[in-house]
Amino acid sequence: MSGDEEGRTQVIRIARSLFDRGLVHGRTGNISVRVDGGILMTPTGASLGTIERGDLSLVNDKAQHLSGPKPSKEAFLHAAVLRARPAAGAVIHTHSTYCAAVSCLGDLDAGDAIPPLTAYFAMRIGRLPLLPYHAPGDDALGPLAEDMAREHAALLLANHGPVVAGGDLSEAFDSLEELEQTAKIFLVVRGAHIRPLASDERTRLSPSSGPDETTTSS
Ligand SMILES: [Zn+2]
Repeated sequence: MSGDEEGRTQVIRIARSLFDRGLVHGRTGNISVRVDGGILMTPTGASLGTIERGDLSLVNDKAQHLSGPKPSKEAFLHAAVLRARPAAGAVIHTHSTYCAAVSCLGDLDAGDAIPPLTAYFAMRIGRLPLLPYHAPGDDALGPLAEDMAREHAALLLANHGPVVAGGDLSEAFDSLEELEQTAKIFLVVRGAHIRPLASDERTRLSPSSGPDETTTSS
């Protein structure tokens, strides 16, 4: 777990990186990291391209506001995922283009929204469940996310975008990028005859499910 100052440094570094790479736009996207005393969370109504260290909120594990500016209205999602995954230290949620596009498709397998197209997707993400549509800020999504996050480090919210946990923020960021890249590939090959990884190929690469946050180098 990070100290408050180190946590702020990490959040701002990842916020800038998400913005600079076009993974968040406008005032969308939010980041959380566990620190001593709670969860540091990006604030509501802020651009990840311009927020500063002093702009972050501190919330508890139920997403109740402790100090700093008002947290993102999606803070409850981060808290739910962190409760479900005790070994996770950080969560990133975006409306990144390709993941959001996939989340709007009407024929996804809700238990496995993107097939195992590449080894890196299978290693970093494993299975990606789709959670049903809820309006932004609807905390009825919290229990569903908490339940699903016990077995999955990444979730896809229907008509919305991904939520990705990692052992630390760098790992969550790497997984988010891999997921976004695979969503792009999925859309590019859609309609073509594809060969996803076979079941045994996938099983050999899968991240361990449950609370361990396995880091897999590429
Ligand atoms: Zn969102």
